[in-house]
Amino acid sequence: MPLTLAQWSQTSELPALEARMLLAHVLQVTPAWVIAHDEVTLDEMLKHRFDALATRRRRGEPMAYLVGEKEFWGMTFRVTPDVLIPRPDTETLVETALRYLPAEREARVLDLGTGSGAVAIAMACERPHARFWATDVSAAALRLAEENAMRLLQQDASRIAWCLSDWFAAFPEPQQASEQFSVIVSNPPYIAQADTHLDEGDVRFEPRGALVGGALGWEALQTIARQAPSYLQPGGVLLMEHGYDQSDVVKALLREAGFTQCETVCDLAGVPRVTLGGMNSL
Ligand code: GLN
Repeated sequence: MPLTLAQWSQTSELPALEARMLLAHVLQVTPAWVIAHDEVTLDEMLKHRFDALATRRRRGEPMAYLVGEKEFWGMTFRVTPDVLIPRPDTETLVETALRYLPAEREARVLDLGTGSGAVAIAMACERPHARFWATDVSAAALRLAEENAMRLLQQDASRIAWCLSDWFAAFPEPQQASEQFSVIVSNPPYIAQADTHLDEGDVRFEPRGALVGGALGWEALQTIARQAPSYLQPGGVLLMEHGYDQSDVVKALLREAGFTQCETVCDLAGVPRVTLGGMNSL
């Protein structure tokens, strides 16, 4: 007797929610459909595909890589092992940055280390009059980000320019205010090289370059803080996501670089997650 979906779910030894998501993925239906049709049997080829995914999941691969997508800001982003999986924490970066972008006004926004494009695309969705530049050092990440933008923003995707760049490296220093940015955002790598949390859970499968900032963790945060002032308009704002224990370091880095009105914002879990600073008008 071929097994039913309910039985496959059980034999997979995965949590019910995960088994259902994988079944939905191989059957190309919604998880709700799987719940409503748990007496259906699985054909041989789909059964093999489900078993293969379930085995990879039991070995620890992130669900998002297995199903190839992740929700962020109410949208579905395609993700691959070339990019960090968008986190709910990072919605705090988007939400805070939007405060500095009045809805009806034109603005120039830079997203450094865009990965899947989640931050730039979410912001572009909310601010139809803003133009965006989004960078990454990984060409594969940029291709994926652009593909996400085309699917999620459609003709509006042209408001985001994708740039292969090591932080600001591909951007000449602006000669006039009109070439500067009103807002710069970044979710850079900020974990320290020796952090044991790199050996646990999903992060084991994510690109190290998107996670590890260096021996101290905050090296990329420092590089960005130091270089951002020349690229910001008077009154412009830099916002960076960081680790739970890095808000004091980031504030110090921002002040050292000449930023004022530095402030930290907590994520939904109450963890200090985003620190920002402003460039005063001269
Ligand atoms: N928040 C992620 C984590 O702790 C790290 C993301 C990053 O380094 N930018 O897993």
